[in-house]
Amino acid sequence: MESAAETIRRIFGGDANSLGSEMAELSAQYEALNKTKFPKPAETRFIAVANQKGGVGKTTTTVNISAALALGGAKVLVVDMDPQGNASTALGAKHNSGEPSTYDVLEGRKKIAEVKQQCPDFPKLDIVPAAIDLSGAELEVADMQDRNNLLKNALQEFIKTSDEHYDYVIVDCPPSLGLLVINAMCAVTEVLIPIQAEYYALEGLGQLINTIGLVQEHYNPILLVSTMLVTMFDRRTLLSKEIFEKVKEHYPSIVLKTTIPRTVKISEAPSFGKSAIAYDPKGMGAIAYREAALEIARRSKSVLSALSTKKQERK
Ligand code: ADP
Ligand code: MG
Repeated sequence: MESAAETIRRIFGGDANSLGSEMAELSAQYEALNKTKFPKPAETRFIAVANQKGGVGKTTTTVNISAALALGGAKVLVVDMDPQGNASTALGAKHNSGEPSTYDVLEGRKKIAEVKQQCPDFPKLDIVPAAIDLSGAELEVADMQDRNNLLKNALQEFIKTSDEHYDYVIVDCPPSLGLLVINAMCAVTEVLIPIQAEYYALEGLGQLINTIGLVQEHYNPILLVSTMLVTMFDRRTLLSKEIFEKVKEHYPSIVLKTTIPRTVKISEAPSFGKSAIAYDPKGMGAIAYREAALEIARRSKSVLSALSTKKQERK
């Protein structure tokens, strides 16, 4: 039988610049992704999605990479560490003020197992939601003992006692460098940095890398910047291409080959309480995020081995 991609190609023809050929290519990519096996990491990967700049695509990346990995068969836990609770919204989790959340976990009132919710669109995706109450935590935990490791301790206990094995724990960070972000960076072994394809992106990047260096030096020596992802890429502009090339030049082994296009569907999805993967599964945005997630999954072996080398060196 003729595939959807073939049908579209037959109707619109193979002209490389036509809308038809673009649709055919997308639909072929969609079909290929559905058939592709996402390799699972040999052990749980703990990833913080961080960038001190706001609006660069941290939350969108957390939500859609997590959804894509879950769709690819992995068990995923998302931890929302941003008081804005945008990741919770986009994954359809209840997170009114007072709803059990990250806030209760950090302050030791509840365990992760008691507050996690299942994402309605993806049975293999769980989320620890955040509500605006979390903004108080920054001050409230300031005097607590081991205040940098509150999330780490809670996560370690959860992973150890959970009946189900989690392949990925992905933490969405707020745009700041306070205790919440320090907690996130102490709880994980990897940082994923989303980079918005715009002029100032590279300036902020150097600053961010320095900050992560400080965290490594003082709190979490194992921490590895494992992944960079260029977001809101506009392929019609030279600037987007230049940013991508620059990032590749400086961080060749870290940046993903896939870039995320700027699309209306990606920005609309959260208002329906959905990831782009669930809201517009065949769209360009969803497909790009699934391609990026596949790259992340395929790099598990090399990332885990780099981490294990780092751990050995510490001994
Ligand atoms: P952050 O978490 O870093 O503050 P967000 O993921 O919330 O950033 O993204 C900021 C805004 O940009 C949001 O309104 C989001 O919907 C929008 N956005 C993010 N990525 C894309 C994209 N690829 N295409 C279109 N809009 C996007
Ligand atoms: Mg955010």
